[in-house]
Amino acid sequence: MKKPLVACNWKLNKNPSETQEFMSQFLEYVGKKYESCFAIFPPAVNAIVVADALKDHNTRWGGQNYYLKNEGAYTGENSAQVFKELGADMGLVGHSERRQIFKEDDDLIAEKVLNLQNLGLTPILCVGETIEQREADQTQEVVFYQLIKGLSKALVDQDFVIAYEPVWAIGTGKVATPEVAEEVHAMLRQELSQLTSPERAAKVPLLYGGSVKPSNSKVLFAQQNIDGFLVGGASLDARSFVDIFENCLS
Ligand code: PEP
Repeated sequence: MKKPLVACNWKLNKNPSETQEFMSQFLEYVGKKYESCFAIFPPAVNAIVVADALKDHNTRWGGQNYYLKNEGAYTGENSAQVFKELGADMGLVGHSERRQIFKEDDDLIAEKVLNLQNLGLTPILCVGETIEQREADQTQEVVFYQLIKGLSKALVDQDFVIAYEPVWAIGTGKVATPEVAEEVHAMLRQELSQLTSPERAAKVPLLYGGSVKPSNSKVLFAQQNIDGFLVGGASLDARSFVDIFENCLS
């Protein structure tokens, strides 16, 4: 029986008191047994609130974005090293909003993946095609390119996670069908086998992201190569975030 990893990406939402409230509700709903099946990605300004709440718990957490350097003259950036000192053990890399709005390219993304691994943090590398690319039949080419480039400097024997997030499904309410998501996840697993080995590839968690809700998590998670989720909108409410996980087990 697979155990899902369910991660939340709050983007630029929640202030410290809302974060505090979410964290107490979340810990109450989830109970000790399944804490380690979740990961929390708050806006950087709320990192200390999350760190305090998770001090005696196994839930994973980290930044939505870190720079590739850990200190220096990089105005406005976030240091993965500092997050690590606060207790973080993960980080998002290559989210489509970072790629599209902040113009992050695959070389920068590869450096960020490596920096996290060098610090002993687990990167979640996000890949996904736009609607134009899907309609032009370029999905495989695009996600393979992002995967191969994103991992080009990675220490592939160390932990990493891949999140397939079709851009057309993010924040749109248009979730990929289980068949469409599984098709891409299976291709990603296959490509990871080529890049590493079948044994190693089988152990890499492949998350799906894009309009995941409590009502669709069970059917998606039933697919062979879907190991969990990266959730935006539906993760802002602690009950809905935990329901996404619980529905996978039911
Ligand atoms: C995301 O931003 O990573 C995401 C998947 O958002 P949503 O769940 O709102 O589509």
